[in-house]
Amino acid sequence: MNTARSPVAADCQQALETYKERMESGLQYGGALLLLVTVSLYQLSHSYFHVHRLELGPTEWLLRLPLFTAISMALLNHWVGWPRWPARYFLRLMGISLSTLALSLLYLFASHEPIRVAQVSDAMTIAFFGATVFSLRGFREWLLIVLLPVSCFWVLALAAELPVLTLAPVFIGPALIMLVTGILLTLARRVAFEGVITREKLNVIATTDPLTGLLNRRAFMPLIRQELARALRSDNRFSIILADLDRFKKVNDTWGHEAGDLVLQETAARLQDCLRAQDALCRWGGEEFLILLPETDAAGAMIVAEKCRQQMAGLAMAIHGIRHTQPLSLGVAEHLRGEDIDPLIIRADEALYRAKARGRNQACLAGSD
Ligand code: GH3
Ligand code: MG
Ligand code: MG
Repeated sequence: MNTARSPVAADCQQALETYKERMESGLQYGGALLLLVTVSLYQLSHSYFHVHRLELGPTEWLLRLPLFTAISMALLNHWVGWPRWPARYFLRLMGISLSTLALSLLYLFASHEPIRVAQVSDAMTIAFFGATVFSLRGFREWLLIVLLPVSCFWVLALAAELPVLTLAPVFIGPALIMLVTGILLTLARRVAFEGVITREKLNVIATTDPLTGLLNRRAFMPLIRQELARALRSDNRFSIILADLDRFKKVNDTWGHEAGDLVLQETAARLQDCLRAQDALCRWGGEEFLILLPETDAAGAMIVAEKCRQQMAGLAMAIHGIRHTQPLSLGVAEHLRGEDIDPLIIRADEALYRAKARGRNQACLAGSD
């Protein structure tokens, strides 16, 4: 038997993803600005004070090129919306080029003047702190942004027979800072994610009918108000359908309340199957469902109502091994120009009453008076 799925898990996933994207977007902009200032100042101050041999200066600037390119792309995306990539791609680019820059400088000095290698240590510690912060999504991102460049560095260093014993201690500072940053980030992420999930669960509980997983009345009203506002602004028509299960009390009386609940769940799933993505279905009350059909006139709404009726009356459902056919009656009303929500629902209710009076298992269209 087909039951309506609870939307809690999907909604939480969605909320979490939105939260992550917001965090990453903030880090993309803030991180790019911070890197732009610090990396430029660092290089200028080094050149100015002649800390390194002057002839290495142009090479150092060249090594910074990938990072400046990544920063520029991140800022361009933020300011003009191009290139249109998700924020995490820019974080990845900046992170990888930052790690690579720190390692390339180390490689440069280790090959030219080993005596200066220790000077790179502080810069590496800061660079790897930044790169670890960019791996906001967790360990796998960190492997890509940090561990991949580090592994490549070691392969190259061994192949070039650099003094690896001198190089190894330089990694102690960065390793410690990455460990601390990684642990703090993981904890902060866990706390933040739990907060998002709890908020989203409360939101889902407040807006969802627990039995069918459909929107409840409270969540439905803003949707219909929004549709009304749109209809006032443009020439858009919309319709509603109020559906009520026929002689449902008998189901409860005959097979018990639990079986009645299963029928309600199956009804919700079948009605949902009859609707388009932009339509909204809500559990209006006990065994009543309200459907909102944007951009649909009376004729279109009657077609949907008939489809819903056939879905219910034409196909028996299996409830605890018993085959049961559950018909329903429907009242259809198209929104009239200038009409408020309450009168519209009252007209749909009157049409539903007529459908019941005429023998049930049918759809009736509301008049305009
Ligand atoms: P009609 O064709 O005139 O609509 O007859 P009906 O029996 O469907 O209507 P009535 O209003 O007399 O009964 C509605 C029944 O729906 C009574 C109530 O117990 C049942 N009901 C409402 N909510 C739930 C629910 O959440 N679970 C179950 N199992 N039954 C419910
Ligand atoms: Mg009923
Ligand atoms: Mg009823």
